[in-house]
Amino acid sequence: MAGRDILATVDDYKVWLQVTIHPVLHGDELTHWVYLFTDITHIHNREESVLTASGMDSLTKVANRNLFTDTVRRLVQEDTPFKLFIIDICDFKKINETLSYQSGDEILKSFALRLQTFIGNSGFIARIGSNEFALVKRLDTFTDVNGADYVHQLQSKVTQTYTVLNGSEPNLGVNIGEASFPEHCSSAETLLQCADIALQAAKYQGRNVALVYSDELHKQHHAIHELETELRNAIKNNELKLFLQPIVDLSSGKVVKCEALARWITPEGKFISPEIFIPLAEKSELIFPFGEWLINEACDAIEALKASNLDIRLAINISGRQVSDLALLTQIKNALEDHQLPGSNLSIELTESVFVESLDTVSVLLNELRAMGITVSIDDFGTGFSSLVYLKKLPIDELKIDRSFVSELENNTDDQAIVQAILGLASNLNIKIIAEGIETQQQQQFLQNHHCTYGQGYLYQRPVEISEFISLAQKLR
Ligand code: C2E
Ligand code: CA
Ligand code: CA
Repeated sequence: MAGRDILATVDDYKVWLQVTIHPVLHGDELTHWVYLFTDITHIHNREESVLTASGMDSLTKVANRNLFTDTVRRLVQEDTPFKLFIIDICDFKKINETLSYQSGDEILKSFALRLQTFIGNSGFIARIGSNEFALVKRLDTFTDVNGADYVHQLQSKVTQTYTVLNGSEPNLGVNIGEASFPEHCSSAETLLQCADIALQAAKYQGRNVALVYSDELHKQHHAIHELETELRNAIKNNELKLFLQPIVDLSSGKVVKCEALARWITPEGKFISPEIFIPLAEKSELIFPFGEWLINEACDAIEALKASNLDIRLAINISGRQVSDLALLTQIKNALEDHQLPGSNLSIELTESVFVESLDTVSVLLNELRAMGITVSIDDFGTGFSSLVYLKKLPIDELKIDRSFVSELENNTDDQAIVQAILGLASNLNIKIIAEGIETQQQQQFLQNHHCTYGQGYLYQRPVEISEFISLAQKLR
C-alpha cells in the first residue's frame, strides 16, 4: 500500500511525504505494520515548477497569469475583437480562515473546473491571482447571448453551493470586471488594467456586482483613490475631530449622555461629511486605524468631561467591519486602561446590519463589552432588517429610533404607529429608547406623551466641539 500525504509541523513548514505501509506477517498472523516515510518535497517542487514553467497553475491546473497574458497579447496582435473578464472570489481570506486552507484549495479547484465547464471551447481561462480568475472570449462566440446575460449565467454557475472537506457549504460571492478589445484599450497590459479598474469599482459596490469598464468608471476610481489617500493622511496627521451631541432625558431635560461624531475638515477648509468618509474607510482597511484613533480620542473626551464634573457616558459609533474582528475589543480595553477609565463611561452604537453577517462574533464581543460595564445601543433602529430575534439573544441596553421616523412625527400617522410600536416593544423587553433627530416641540411632545425615555436632536443641540459642548452641558445641568 502506498500513498501521499502532506504533514504540517508546528512551524507550519510543509513537506511532501510519500508514505509506504507494509504489513508484517508471522505465519498467518499479522504482527506489525512498517511505515516508511520518504521526503519527496524536492520532487514535488520540481513538478510544481515544471507546471509553472509550462504556464499552468499548479493547484487548479488551468493557465497561470503569464500564459494568460501571452494569450491576450496574441489576440491583440491578431486584431481579434474579444471581451476580457476578471473574476474575484469575495472574502476568500475569511473562507480560508474559518474553514481551513485545505478547504480553500478544494474550492479553488472546483471553481476552476466549473468555470472551465461553463466556457467549454469558447474561450480561455486562467488563475491570475490567489483568488482571482480571468477569462477571454472572442466577440464572435457571443452568438446567442449578450454580454450582460452571459455574465449573469457565469455568476450563478460559479457561485452555486460548494460542499467542502468538513461538509460545510460556504456561500460564495464573486465580483466581475469586464473590458473589451479594441473598444477600451489597445494592448494586453492596459486591457487587464481596465478590467481590473472595473473589478475594483464592482468590489466597492458590494458582493456579486459585475461592471463593464468605462471612462466614467475610471474617473470615479481615480477620485475614490485620491480621497482614500487624503483620509489616510488625515488620520495619520490627526486632522479629524470629534464633535459631541447631547442626549437628554425627555422628562427632565437633563443631559444624560452624549454621542461622539467624527468630523473631517481638510487643511484647505473643505468639510467632508462622515456619510462619505466613514463608508470609504469601511471599504478600505482605513477603518482599523480610524477605529484606533476614535477610541483614543473618545477617551480624551471622557477625561475632559470628567475634569469639568460631567460624569456622563459617551457613545461611539462602531461600523460593521470593525465588529467582525475581535481586535476591536483589545483596542477598547487598552485605550480604557491607558486612560485609567472605567467601561461605565463608554457606550457603543451598532446598526442592525452587523448582526446579519456575524451574529456569533458580535455576541462574544457584546458580552465582553457588557462585562466591562460598556452599554450597547442599536443605531438607526427600524431601518435595517429588523429581526427581533437578536433583541432577545444579545445584551442590548438601548434602541435609537431612526431620524426618518421622527422627522414627520407631527403629521404622518404611519410614523406615529411605528414609533408607538417600538416604544411598546422596548418597554416589554426592558430596553430604553433614544429618539434621534428631534427638531420640533411637537415631535418632543409626541415622544413625551408616549413615554419615550431619551431624545437627541437639533432641538437641544447640534454636534459641537468638545469645549463648546462642555460649556453648554454645564448650563443644562
Ligand atoms: P448616526 O450615528 O445616525 O448619527 C446621527 C446623525 O444625525 C449625525 O450626522 C448628526 O449630526 C445627525 N443629527 C443629529 N440630530 C439631528 C437632527 O435633529 N436633525 C438632523 N437632520 N440631523 C441630526 P453626522 O454627524 O453627519 O453623521 C452621519 C453618520 O456618519 C452617523 O449617523 C454615523 O453613521 C456616521 N458616523 C459619524 N461619526 C462616526 C464615527 O465616529 N464612527 C462611525 N463608525 N460612524 C460615524
Ligand atoms: Ca449613531
Ligand atoms: Ca442614527
